[in-house]
Amino acid sequence: MTGRLDGKFALITAAAAGIGRATALAFAREGANVLATDIDESGLRSLAEQGMTTAILNVRDADAIEALVAAQGRIDILFNAAGFVHHGTILECPPDDWDKSFDLNVGSTYRTIRAVLPGMLAQGSGSIINVASAASSIKGVPNRAVYSATKAALIGLTKSVAVDFAATGVRCNAICPGTVDTPSLAGRMAAAADPAAARRDFIARQPMGRLGTAEEIAHLAVYLASDESSFTSGAALLIDGAWAA
Ligand code: NAD
Repeated sequence: MTGRLDGKFALITAAAAGIGRATALAFAREGANVLATDIDESGLRSLAEQGMTTAILNVRDADAIEALVAAQGRIDILFNAAGFVHHGTILECPPDDWDKSFDLNVGSTYRTIRAVLPGMLAQGSGSIINVASAASSIKGVPNRAVYSATKAALIGLTKSVAVDFAATGVRCNAICPGTVDTPSLAGRMAAAADPAAARRDFIARQPMGRLGTAEEIAHLAVYLASDESSFTSGAALLIDGAWAA
């Protein structure tokens, strides 16, 4: 059986849970050689038990990223899933939270792209996929001040990389999900004063009356990683069940 990613090497950040994990599994099902990375050892272990190559990688550590990419060799697909959701308005976002959000959500992608891109340019091909969000330059969402600022920055970085390297065979796109049922979302609900009400509220804001699944996001990731999307670069693709429509 042939897969849509046969023979391709994929590096995935934040692969232990949620969208990163679903994407790692989908890429592997499509025939890619996946290097799944995260800081969560136990989450990675369960992927390793399914035969996937895994490595601890903190995306805030530039040296660790450089070393991992150098050791890996060829990388055809870079999937940047690492991200942190800060809750609050700008008045509830002290400078430390602002800096941490930008470092984890944008700095991580800056670092991985700078590490991976020279190899992609040398081989004349590559697909970089950044996980942004509908909460960004696309849609204002309450209590997502710094989060939305970081995700808007990611869309800008995505477009810049796409344009700067459009003629080289390297493509760069952003996926902009709406509300997706993942462990971090479950954590945000659990942290609310009334978790059941928080879940109802998250669902109520979705026009389809349900949350998205990580697998639905992974299907789009497979398309962007594959050669089927060869004319798609610089796109910020919404996948949000019409939330932002
Ligand atoms: P998740 O909470 O399910 O998983 C996050 C993973 O990131 C965890 O495995 C965690 O260990 C890892 N991680 C945290 N800090 C890290 C670090 N410094 N280095 C490496 N790994 C680290 O996450 P998710 O909800 O699937 O989100 C994945 C991406 O999708 C994020 O960028 C998020 O902003 C974005 N997103 C999520 C939603 C949603 O509703 N879930 C919506 C839009 C965008």
